[in-house]
Amino acid sequence: MQTPLGAIIAFAFLSELLASFDMPRIAEESIQKVADANDIVEIIGGYFPLKRAGTSYRAICPFHKEKSPSFHVNPSRQSFHCFGCGAGGGVFRFVMDYEHVDFPSAVRKLAQRAGIVLVEDNDPKEQNRRDQRSRLLELHRETAAWFHINLLRTHEAEHARGYLKKRGLTKEVAVDWQIGYAPAGWESLRNWATARGFTREELLLGGLLTAREGDTQGGYDRFRDRLMFPIRNDYGEVVAFSGRILNDSQKEAKYVNSPETPIFSKGRVLFGLDKSKRSLIDAGSAIVLEGQIDLISAFEHGVKNVVAPQGTAFTAEQARLLRRFVEQVTLCFDSDTAGQNAVERSLPALLAAGISVKAARLPAGEDPDSLIRGKGVEAFQSRLAEARDFFDHTIDRAISESGGNFGPRERAAVARRLGAFLTLLPDAALRETTTAHVASTLGISVGALQEAAEKNPLTFADESTQGNQPAPGPNRVVKVSASTELICRLAILSTEVREWLTTQSSPAPSELDPELELLNELLPPLKEVRDLSPSTLLALIPQELQSLVSGWEFEKMPVSPLEAVQDALRNLHLLNLKKRQNAAAIQLRSPGLSGKVMLSIQKEILDLQQKINDLSAPATSALTSLR
Ligand SMILES: [Zn+2]
Repeated sequence: MQTPLGAIIAFAFLSELLASFDMPRIAEESIQKVADANDIVEIIGGYFPLKRAGTSYRAICPFHKEKSPSFHVNPSRQSFHCFGCGAGGGVFRFVMDYEHVDFPSAVRKLAQRAGIVLVEDNDPKEQNRRDQRSRLLELHRETAAWFHINLLRTHEAEHARGYLKKRGLTKEVAVDWQIGYAPAGWESLRNWATARGFTREELLLGGLLTAREGDTQGGYDRFRDRLMFPIRNDYGEVVAFSGRILNDSQKEAKYVNSPETPIFSKGRVLFGLDKSKRSLIDAGSAIVLEGQIDLISAFEHGVKNVVAPQGTAFTAEQARLLRRFVEQVTLCFDSDTAGQNAVERSLPALLAAGISVKAARLPAGEDPDSLIRGKGVEAFQSRLAEARDFFDHTIDRAISESGGNFGPRERAAVARRLGAFLTLLPDAALRETTTAHVASTLGISVGALQEAAEKNPLTFADESTQGNQPAPGPNRVVKVSASTELICRLAILSTEVREWLTTQSSPAPSELDPELELLNELLPPLKEVRDLSPSTLLALIPQELQSLVSGWEFEKMPVSPLEAVQDALRNLHLLNLKKRQNAAAIQLRSPGLSGKVMLSIQKEILDLQQKINDLSAPATSALTSLR
């Protein structure tokens, strides 16, 4: 079983991943072990509470917005399925979809949880990369904890605690977000980390230390005397830091961020997403804020569907990441010109990802945090409620900036600017209605607006998508007929059925019903498999079929699975023969047929009748031949 199963797993999952990620193969025994050691109820229950309902468990689906729970977890089958959006699969699938990780990472994560050492191909280069990554994550995790303790406990951080208090951030908030303090010395972090066993090279690689070029010994702390915000990826690992100065009159950059490192790419991370995921799905929309403090302040005051890009404008990757959770965003940037420019710079990525964009207007001189602290969260919420569609927002601004002089020249300028954005809307119908709306608001013709757009095409370079399909979402819903479901289900469950099906060539099941093409996708990966646990079986099924299969009722097992499948196929066969007979009968009634043609049609009808009789009568030769 060893080699073929390995090949199967490679076939089912890793082939495409291997191509793009250069991933080593995980040995099949390991996958089985990991599957066995991780109970799906325990795993999913670790992410959010599950309610017992009879023999299964229920919850509000984490993959789509809903009010009553249609997300089911089945312990005996070790699978989950959502009857609302069709998400489903085994424990690996859940971790992949929930954490947005690939299959090998999901296996590794669950292996680590269960304390299983994976047998992986020992590509030394790959091993080094993984070791390096896990060292850097460890360094960041420990450093975040150290910064945090510094803030809470050290005498040196007195002024940092004072600053937090002044900004209205309580100790609880500091704990929730693990806010920290980087001491003022040049080598404080370096000395501490070195004593913890981290090397100078690791500190440099993680961007916590900086050194002059060519300096092979030196290096000083990047973050000194700053309030520290850990930046987490969307599943909560600290991957970078953002350090804020504590005294705004200091002549230093207000924020210093970690550089790009092997674990941090600022264009891929959205601050706050690890905490706001659930709220984003519930709200169906995201409020995009500029800074960490704005975000924390909004979140702590109950506005929880918030994220902040690292840097002021959205990248294509951030937009796609966000698109997995919401269809709409409200940009809430500072009302100054820099903030408004950031709104416009964020737009291409968001529109191209199919996200509709609103812009909120804050009172002049206010940011979300100052507004919330000064006038209460209600004042902030009412600004959000008044947020307008980006196109209307831009026209409003242009009108108010023109000082009552919004003439033809001004209109044309706005038409050019907006026309460029209109071309980015990926949905044709939406593009058309938005274009018509903008044209009528500006008081110009649709033709004139389109012309302006064509003259100013906005090219939006999105390197990351080239040759790269977006990750398959959990939302592909496929429905099949009851007989297809029965046949495929029993093919998965019963080795006997599987073996029999592979011998059936005339008529092939897919000739009887095109839906049974499914068998051609299901059987090859299952061919050599005998007694595997349900979650491993599910893992072997091609990824795109998992959500379909996880919705099936696996408990209903007929006494004789093989007979049930044979009956189902015989019924399909009968149905086909009767259809052909009907078609021939109709053909026979058409006018002007020659005697010869009529004779051959009559003969065909009789032949079909004979086959129908043979198939219908049990224990006849036809039936045994089908067996
Ligand atoms: Zn769902």
